[in-house]
Amino acid sequence: MKITPIDVPGYERVAKAEDPASGLLAFIGVHDTTLGPALGGLRMWKYDNDQAALTDVLRLSRGMTYKSAVAKTGLGGGKSVILGDPRKDKTPELLQAMGQFIESFGGQYITAEDVGTGIADLKQVRTKTRWVTGLAREDGGSGNPSPYTALGCFVGIQAAAVEAWGSDALQGKVVAIQGPGSVGFPLGQHLVKAGAKLIVSDVSQENLDRAVKELGAKAVPPQAIYDEACDIFAPCALGGILNDETIPRLNCRIVGGAANNQLLDENRHAQALKERGILYAPDYVINAGGIINVSLELEPGGYDETKAVAKIRNIFEALRSIFETARRRNVTTHAAAQDVAEANLKAGAGGSRRAQVHLSLRSSAG
Ligand code: NAD
Repeated sequence: MKITPIDVPGYERVAKAEDPASGLLAFIGVHDTTLGPALGGLRMWKYDNDQAALTDVLRLSRGMTYKSAVAKTGLGGGKSVILGDPRKDKTPELLQAMGQFIESFGGQYITAEDVGTGIADLKQVRTKTRWVTGLAREDGGSGNPSPYTALGCFVGIQAAAVEAWGSDALQGKVVAIQGPGSVGFPLGQHLVKAGAKLIVSDVSQENLDRAVKELGAKAVPPQAIYDEACDIFAPCALGGILNDETIPRLNCRIVGGAANNQLLDENRHAQALKERGILYAPDYVINAGGIINVSLELEPGGYDETKAVAKIRNIFEALRSIFETARRRNVTTHAAAQDVAEANLKAGAGGSRRAQVHLSLRSSAG
């Protein structure tokens, strides 16, 4: 395997791997390890070319630094991508070669599942490196992160409700969920239990039918979700959906959902939401439940669900403080969240947690 380091200003370590024997072509990006080793998922995607894959790994790994800094996971930001079609090009050899590539980072980068990869793939990667999280419970991991991401979104929506209406009660509120999938569906379950009414859209008829049948949701076509009158819009499908075309159409008081990179242009579209009087729960704060859950694997003593849930519930306070800061300083909630992330990075520059994480992973993985 040929591993080529790439010098990218602002990033600690970036490399490309080429392995003709297995067909692996991949990048790992470590953005920042001030707060701990860089943890972020392994994405497999049909990128048009190397440059597109590199751009993605850089963007995603930087996003992980900020997400973990606000969630106080004691981790840094990293990500990896494999160029290829996850439905056709995935082989045990390719995933094992990826494991070797991850191993070459010596624990500076720790992987997990992401778009195009699943727990079975991580098991293959794990045969070549110990730096893997998110395996199944029976294999010593924390399992599927989605229900935990959903819980974080739910308490995040409650925090937004306090800011918008002075109470976390969701009884009778109307929530429009875009994409009731792995996260959107369990989020819908929490909301229904709290007395909310749901509107849903999905391109998957199966997922749409499930939400209608099991959550009593009203289904609307994918493009119609932006225009629906509701209290809360919860994007749980795609990135880039808050943009020039959709923001003027929104008919809600709050935007809070699981999707990554919801703002097409971070600063401009956060400002556009603010100007329309729509309270935006920054995506990387409200959707941190999954990374918080996985980060508990690295605690001394290993994964503990009770501790994970308690920490995920802190998303409520984290968002309350971001909303309060944004209001006080008259800035967007996105800007307030960035400030919290940067302050936490600065405060944690000592790096004591880093040594602890390394030690606990080493001992648990033998
Ligand atoms: P998923 O694929 O299980 O669910 C997404 C749902 O959106 C599916 O039902 C899909 O059919 C639907 N969808 C796709 N295109 C759509 C469209 N144009 N309109 C309406 N629905 C559409 O994925 P997921 O794991 O639930 O993740 C959802 C989002 O949350 C993604 O952006 C993901 O990156 C983000 N996220 C997920 C987690 C996690 O723990 N799974 C953690 C953090 C962030």
